[in-house]
Amino acid sequence: MREILVYAASQGGELTKPALEALGTGRRLAGEAGVPLSAVVLGADTDGPARAAIACGAGKVYAARNPILANFQPDLYLRGLEAAAAASGADVLLFPGDGPGRELAGRLAHRLGAGAVTEVVGYRLDGGVPLWVRPVYGGKAMAVYAPARERVVVALRPKTQDPAVPDPSRQGEVVPLAFEVSEAEAVTRVVEKIQEALSGVRLEDARVVVAGGRGLGGPEPFKDLEELARILGGAVGASRAACDAGWVPPTLQVGQTGAIVAPDLYIAIGISGASQHLAGISGAKTVIAINKDPEAPIFKRANLGIVADYKTVLPALTAELKKLVG
Ligand code: FAD
Repeated sequence: MREILVYAASQGGELTKPALEALGTGRRLAGEAGVPLSAVVLGADTDGPARAAIACGAGKVYAARNPILANFQPDLYLRGLEAAAAASGADVLLFPGDGPGRELAGRLAHRLGAGAVTEVVGYRLDGGVPLWVRPVYGGKAMAVYAPARERVVVALRPKTQDPAVPDPSRQGEVVPLAFEVSEAEAVTRVVEKIQEALSGVRLEDARVVVAGGRGLGGPEPFKDLEELARILGGAVGASRAACDAGWVPPTLQVGQTGAIVAPDLYIAIGISGASQHLAGISGAKTVIAINKDPEAPIFKRANLGIVADYKTVLPALTAELKKLVG
């Protein structure tokens, strides 16, 4: 390994949480392997993100600054990333593994003729060469990937890495990137941005998640889950079955193809515990399951299980907690 380049994604002038996680892992790996860590920032104004990336340990930051990069637009962002990859010569390119990061990672790997590994949760150094660990078969097994190409693009699964701890006294160099980019290259354009209405805590950030599944039988009981979540200062989540049924919006889906959460407490109500659902809660500290089927797989993951019809348990639990919390 010669150099690590991290895509330091930003929003509103600040590095995103998954970007901080990628920088955290980049810094640790660079330290262990004794190679330089650099970062690339993209946008209409890159000063703030560049300073933040240096504070997180990047010795050099490649700044792809252009007014047409104001909104996330993968076709145009890729130009900046290609320029950074060419300027840095890094052989390991680390990406935050959120939606935009995953899209860019795959497409950049293709353009560079590099290997690509997504959903990475850890690494191992083998004679100075990083091997990448990622879950397979819906989290039932772990696979270790060795690079088969000179370069590798790696997307890190959010919430699995310790974020970088910024130190504003760190010094670094900002290298402006000269690159051609034209709006005509974009095959899509941003027509409108709509802020998602959010009442309470964001699912991904919640310390308590109260999640419901097909066992709830319809959309109505989710109101009771909202009540419980409100009392506990948490957020509501759902299984894919509940989202697919249209009971709740798809943004609430937890799992392999939904949100990855890592709360202190996850309460699964009427959720069977399919491996694809469990893949989204591997970071949860305590899991409580309420399910009427004692054989439901969720009980293998749960720290505490209640075998019962949720209709009897939920009102009693909510009433007791209301008394405690007020
Ligand atoms: P079910 O499996 O039908 O379970 C319902 C549970 O409710 C049962 O265990 C039942 O005993 C219990 N129950 C019924 N009535 C009551 C009651 N009155 N009180 C208490 N308990 C009751 N799923 C996800 O959740 N997230 C994902 O990201 C995801 N990604 C997927 C990706 C792929 C490629 C595939 C193939 C599948 C994916 N799935 C995902 C779907 C997953 O396989 C399951 O189908 C889904 O999680 C099941 O949802 P469920 O547990 O709500 O429903």
